[in-house]
Amino acid sequence: MNKSRKSGLLIASCAVMVLAAAYFGAGALRARPAAVSAGDYAGTVTLDPALYQGPARDAYRIARERPELLAQLHCYCGCDRSMGHKNLLDCFRGTHAGYCAICIGEAIDAERLHDGGTPMDQIRDTLRQRYSRHES
Ligand SMILES: [Zn+2]
Repeated sequence: MNKSRKSGLLIASCAVMVLAAAYFGAGALRARPAAVSAGDYAGTVTLDPALYQGPARDAYRIARERPELLAQLHCYCGCDRSMGHKNLLDCFRGTHAGYCAICIGEAIDAERLHDGGTPMDQIRDTLRQRYSRHES
């Protein structure tokens, strides 16, 4: 009698632990930001915005917070040919964007337009009009 009550308790406390683990596990999943498809950009490492000041810091912050936005945009500074960059996000993986006014300007404009509800194809058009003339 005594022995079976003990094992019953053991089973009950095990069940509680399993339930708690499931609960907290689900909570951790819920806490992740839903909009960011982290899987797509898991390998993306952009530099720490704290390394920079002024507009460059802003731009590196945007790259860190909105990789999915910059990854859809072309950089018109010519880095696609000179450095093999495939999109604007690539500029922020290294120090390049820190001394490139075009990369910085595009990132800041893109965030502002996007936050204002501008559709992606219009953001692309605007950036092309503003920056493509710099391409040599
Ligand atoms: Zn660039």
